[in-house]
Amino acid sequence: MKLCRFDEDRLGVVVDGSIRDITDIQSEIRDKAAYDMKGDAVVAALPEYRERMEVAANSAPEIAVSDVKLLPPIARQCKTMAAPVNYEAHVAEMAAQPHITGEDKGPRRPSGIQNQGIFLKANSAVVGPSEGVAIRFPDRRNDHEVEFVIIIGKTGSRIKREDAMDYVAGYTLGLDMTVRGIEDRSFRKSCDGYAPVGPWMVTADEIPDPGNVPFTVHLNGKLQQDAHTRDLIFDVPRLIEFASEFYTIHPGDYLFTGSPPGVSEVHPGDVMHCACDLIGDMSVAVRAAE
Ligand code: MN
Repeated sequence: MKLCRFDEDRLGVVVDGSIRDITDIQSEIRDKAAYDMKGDAVVAALPEYRERMEVAANSAPEIAVSDVKLLPPIARQCKTMAAPVNYEAHVAEMAAQPHITGEDKGPRRPSGIQNQGIFLKANSAVVGPSEGVAIRFPDRRNDHEVEFVIIIGKTGSRIKREDAMDYVAGYTLGLDMTVRGIEDRSFRKSCDGYAPVGPWMVTADEIPDPGNVPFTVHLNGKLQQDAHTRDLIFDVPRLIEFASEFYTIHPGDYLFTGSPPGVSEVHPGDVMHCACDLIGDMSVAVRAAE
């Protein structure tokens, strides 16, 4: 099932390329959820409500995807996690261009995801594809990093690799937008709008092997990142195991799995088009911040 959020906080199921509005079910779930729950009520309720959602979608009127404003698929994630340096070829391209990172003048961090850990992007950086990215520092280099994104399905801590897939609600695509420079990574990757996510969540059953997912981003029509999740250094179960050693993970949490090679600079006026046959595609426009 493909679940999207659209317009003014509405919930839809995407069927054969069109949206079926099931906002009534979203309202019912939220009315029953505790205000202080950690995580997203709709994701937490999916095991119980999924069948009803699919039945309701069958009789709901069709809305064209092109007629709505797509929001991020999760309304209230507890956190937005991201893997650094998780494709060998991206590690190599960054090592070859130290002037881009600005990190060549100081002591270098130990390399490798095992040493660098998982980092956090501010939840306030997350936007839907329709909102676009506003470039806050036009004089500095701003890069796109298209990434395969895990959406966590239930609360867990210190999860073992062999149990990790039980904690996945689904997947989506994300752009880990980045201002290059010497500040802390989390700071540079948390500007407003620097985490577009979408176009929707695909439930885990539709991607039985998350290690076999090709995806791309085109910048202004030119292929920039042509990626495959088989090249991940830490694969999906290992990332969940690793993140949950440090954090309790909650329903709706995003986990960006790291950037493949091919990152490049974006400027106001550019359009990034992310695509994955197993998920969907989204266009994200770049503009100047006000
Ligand atoms: Mn990244």
